[in-house]
Amino acid sequence: MTKASLRDIPSTDLIGRQVLVRADLNVPIKDGRITDDTRVRETLPTLRLLKDGGARTVVISHMGRPEGPDPGLSLQRVAGLLGDSIGGTVRFHPDLVGPGARAAVLALDNSEVLVLENTRFDAGETRNTPELARALADLVDHPPDGVFVNDAFGAAHRAHASTTGVADEMRRRGGSAVAGLLLDKELKVLESLLCKPKQPFVGILGGAKVSGKVETIRALLPRVDRLLVGGAMANTFLRALGLELGQSLLEEDKVELCHGILRDAGDRIVLPVDCLVAKSIEDGAAVRVVPRDSVQPDDCIGDIGPASRELFGGLLSDGRTVFWNGPMGVFEVPAFREGTIAMARSVATATDLGALTVVGGGDSAAALNMAHVADKVAHVSTGGGASLEFLGGEQLPGVAALSDR
Ligand code: ADP
Ligand code: MG
Repeated sequence: MTKASLRDIPSTDLIGRQVLVRADLNVPIKDGRITDDTRVRETLPTLRLLKDGGARTVVISHMGRPEGPDPGLSLQRVAGLLGDSIGGTVRFHPDLVGPGARAAVLALDNSEVLVLENTRFDAGETRNTPELARALADLVDHPPDGVFVNDAFGAAHRAHASTTGVADEMRRRGGSAVAGLLLDKELKVLESLLCKPKQPFVGILGGAKVSGKVETIRALLPRVDRLLVGGAMANTFLRALGLELGQSLLEEDKVELCHGILRDAGDRIVLPVDCLVAKSIEDGAAVRVVPRDSVQPDDCIGDIGPASRELFGGLLSDGRTVFWNGPMGVFEVPAFREGTIAMARSVATATDLGALTVVGGGDSAAALNMAHVADKVAHVSTGGGASLEFLGGEQLPGVAALSDR
């Protein structure tokens, strides 16, 4: 069933209305500075539409994983950044719910934006308590005036008070819960990968672990023509082939599972043929390129090797649809970065050749930036976990909770 979207609300209906927006302002912060503002930029179309329509916008979001109030993870700084980006008044209030927060909402003028404090400072957020859901719904005017907009695709796979709880509560009160423009866009792109993707469809998975991505592998396999596997994830598959992997990161308890996946997938799964090894994964370590069957007992695999880069790049070049999640190696360490950078470039080249290219995952997005090709892919998802769960065939709770169109 299609979900209601912010676009369904006529702009003339927005003037003066209090709109509660669950945005994804979960930006990375290091030493008190925002190191990547992608998520803030991606939610601007929704906030601009509301501002231009004269709405009184109340923004809530989580940031990081605090277990209670944590001044280092306050959204105040993000509110400042939002003010610079959107132009016009963006206020901040240090509570999330309660009389102070409600008074700040009532003080808003048309076209003004208010950012409330980090939802994860409240223990009710991750436990999705009815109390917090009600308190969040109480922030805005009662239905049918109040509207809830969920634009946080990156949090849509979590059933939290600020994603599903408040949406359920707004609907229960006779109000509406609609998808924001970013959430809408993300779902449309990912749906196009599931429904009639242009062939050949090439999937690329990497990163640290098989677990957590198993459902995605299983769901993608019948749809893709090729699934290229790199990163530490490939190690567990290589072990399933009976290879020596030395001290490399792998999940022994997933070897049987990988064995089964390989048997079912036949030649659709493509594994690295060579790798970059060292005695330890750190800069300055002596690095060797070895075929995948020549890893020594004291070796550690840190990246795919040049023959694998070539093999993967070649298979990608005739893809018409490409989905990539997860780095090919320990790309945080410059000596083991080349495989992931080459993959980022290959995905960019496939885009130039006309493929629909979609990249999901924070680390993969960071790799695109490192390779200076972030603007050369069709779509970079703001939600790694959410995109994997969606492609794994799961109904995202944050989406399920929205009003039907
Ligand atoms: P994404 O954020 O794009 O979804 P993941 O979080 O799944 O990606 O995986 C990223 C992590 O995987 C990185 O920290 C990277 O260092 C790690 N990784 C990739 N290859 C290896 C490897 N061969 N050995 C150890 N860690 C690896
Ligand atoms: Mg990651």
